[in-house]
Amino acid sequence: MSRVEPILPGAVIGIVGGGQLGRMTALAAARLGYRCHILTPGADDPAVQVAAAATIAPYDDPAALDAFAAAVDVVTFEFENLPSEALSRLAERRPVRPGPDVLAICQDRIREKAFLGGQGIPIPAYRPVESARAAQAAFAELGAPAVLKTARLGYDGKGQAKLGEGDDAAAAFARLGDVPCVLEAFVAFELEASVIAARDVEGRIACYPLVANRHVDHILSETTVPAAVPDAVAADAVALAGRIAQGLDLVGLVAVEMFITDRGGILVNELAPRPHNSGHWSIEASVTSQFEQLVRAVCGLPLGDPSPLGPARMLNLIGDDVRDVARYLAEPGAHVHLYGKAEARPGRKMGHVTWLDPTGA
Ligand code: AMP
Repeated sequence: MSRVEPILPGAVIGIVGGGQLGRMTALAAARLGYRCHILTPGADDPAVQVAAAATIAPYDDPAALDAFAAAVDVVTFEFENLPSEALSRLAERRPVRPGPDVLAICQDRIREKAFLGGQGIPIPAYRPVESARAAQAAFAELGAPAVLKTARLGYDGKGQAKLGEGDDAAAAFARLGDVPCVLEAFVAFELEASVIAARDVEGRIACYPLVANRHVDHILSETTVPAAVPDAVAADAVALAGRIAQGLDLVGLVAVEMFITDRGGILVNELAPRPHNSGHWSIEASVTSQFEQLVRAVCGLPLGDPSPLGPARMLNLIGDDVRDVARYLAEPGAHVHLYGKAEARPGRKMGHVTWLDPTGA
């Protein structure tokens, strides 16, 4: 592989998306001497508040995309529900890492599952369903319980319907908006877990350890580092994540969400080609945070060491949880992060707290 010239500190990293993932990436980039320029429709978004510059515009505004591209040296993105044509337009002008093809796969569950299946990665049994009749046929084949998920635009359990014995799959398909979906067999998992893999411009891979994720109301509540599973299971999970990063020809990060079954089996649930909530612990509890790792990867710098400094725990502050912030601030050993969001709506991620060596925390 020919050597790719690094984009050195002093350069401008363009981040598409203005949320907390962009905010924490911009903070990590600043530490390494880069400036960040955010493209987002939200003038007061969390990332805009800490970045050197911003283009405030819809993601599909061609003039804004061109002005943004002209102002930056490299582009990355911090969320997936973007038109992939927007990234393709940027990619005509600047390196976009991860590339538009990676986004196109990961933002569509049908394509994502076809990719994973094609790579020989274990996934739950599923059927793509594009009509009410196909939903019924797939449910008859896979049986109950099953989960119907919209192929696009789903997050935190939105765009999903669980189907039990005797449920009407056609009605569920209609309720989800008559849009392309996948029907998945319901997995009786022991644990939800994830691995974040980084891959650099030369194809080198560095993986964070397998961590355990506890969800409340479909939203990540707590991450425990490392996941309490046998070493062989953790090693398999990390190897799968590395294969996925390689298969995507990724430059950047990919978070691989997995179900671990009681016999130590691993099924990959979904991919996110960006920093991930289950990696926030790495800011204090890893040699290199996931955000710094993204900066290193997209700028063509050597990847950092993803090793944890020890066991850790991350708790999300969701909605009104943020009212307890004074309690966490007063707690020795609690690392508190707030995202600068004015309004604590239910289900909204307002911040998080990380503890190193949380035994007894
Ligand atoms: P997803 O948006 O695909 O990450 O799904 C959100 C949450 O729904 C997951 O974190 C699981 O808790 C649950 N879930 C999704 N798919 C399945 C499945 N096939 N079997 C069991 N639980 C699932």
